[in-house]
Amino acid sequence: MDYARIFRDAIDTLHGEQRYRVFLDIERIAGAFPHARAHVDGRARNIIIWCSNDYLGMGQHPEVIAAARQAVGAHGVGAGGTRNISGTNSAIVALEDELADLHGKTDALVFTSGYISNEATIATVGKLLPDCLILSDELNHASMIEGVRRAGCEKAIFRHNDLQHLEELLKRADPDRAKLIVFESVYSMDGDIAPIHAICDLAGRYGAMTYLDEVHAVGMYGPRGGGIAERDAAMARVDIIEGTLAKAFGCLGGYIAADGAIVDAIRSYAAGFIFTTALPPAVAAAAKASVAHLKASNAEREAQQRQAARTKRALAERGIPVISNETHIVPVLVGDPQKAKAASDMLLDRFGLYIQPINFPTVPRGTERLRVTPTPYHSDTLIEELAEALDAVWRTLDLPRTSRTEAAE
Ligand SMILES: *Cc1c(COP(=O)(O)O)cnc(C)c1O
Repeated sequence: MDYARIFRDAIDTLHGEQRYRVFLDIERIAGAFPHARAHVDGRARNIIIWCSNDYLGMGQHPEVIAAARQAVGAHGVGAGGTRNISGTNSAIVALEDELADLHGKTDALVFTSGYISNEATIATVGKLLPDCLILSDELNHASMIEGVRRAGCEKAIFRHNDLQHLEELLKRADPDRAKLIVFESVYSMDGDIAPIHAICDLAGRYGAMTYLDEVHAVGMYGPRGGGIAERDAAMARVDIIEGTLAKAFGCLGGYIAADGAIVDAIRSYAAGFIFTTALPPAVAAAAKASVAHLKASNAEREAQQRQAARTKRALAERGIPVISNETHIVPVLVGDPQKAKAASDMLLDRFGLYIQPINFPTVPRGTERLRVTPTPYHSDTLIEELAEALDAVWRTLDLPRTSRTEAAE
């Protein structure tokens, strides 16, 4: 057996489909975000990051850095083991209290990532509920799909945000059967939002539990950053809310928030929680500082919304096609994997702008794009420079534009 060849062939397949992934080697600079340094072909150069999920720049916030420094000094670096075997650290307990309060739930549980929190929780709920049927939005994140798969129970996929289809599937199922609806609030690639109340209405009517991924909304929506469910006053209606500490909160880790026995059962049964070392105290302390700051401050949320809207306007004025949505995400449609890569390369080489191309399977084929994420730290000047650079790239590569009238509609 030529093992090496199998791996080479697998890589060649990706090259053949124009979706071999290349990572840019960057150094983020605390205090200077979105300015950063990139290392390309052995040379360092200054770049502007336009595709970070550190949506509010909290990864460099002075209070967050101070909390991490203080905790490293006081408690050292590692957590020292799994919470099951080596004890839980008080920084995580404090963080969980903060998160339960953020979502108006009695309890929260922190995992090592948002990915793990989705996979472990959905799989465990699906296993604990007898003969469970999981109803899952077709555009759910890979971590949720993996959770559904590992639950090992029957699943039904509903068309994206399609209430009628969801109701059809609920109606078809035995009324006495356990059901779990899993969905997201902000979908990260198109930036559209789920109708949370309407989905909870259906859950109520057909006796289903609800599981909501708020990864692209926590910190950024709602008066205290509790997400779209907080903004829509729907938090109490959702059984399990899941979020990440790694995007708008700028740190690392994932979590769920829920009431009563749910969190205790996940803590007790989920392998992805039990058998892995806990988050280090410094990360937990930094995340707690970030969550606490964003509960009290709207400045970051308002600046992000303002700069995202400004970016969308600047691109529309030049006929650069932006998939329209009401969120902070600015998806710029290219529609071809090779051209998306060429556009990204040109932005970096010529203008020092870093925007990673997004290809299949992250988005459907034919909808390859540049996903732009303006933050409070992307100034008006930087936005103008981005728009000018995209305009030049669109001209050079002869990429499709929207007409100005279309853009104005
Ligand atoms: C990024 C992401 C996750 C995973 O969160 P991490 O903390 O990065 O592991 C989960 N769900 C969605 C929708 C995501 O985009």
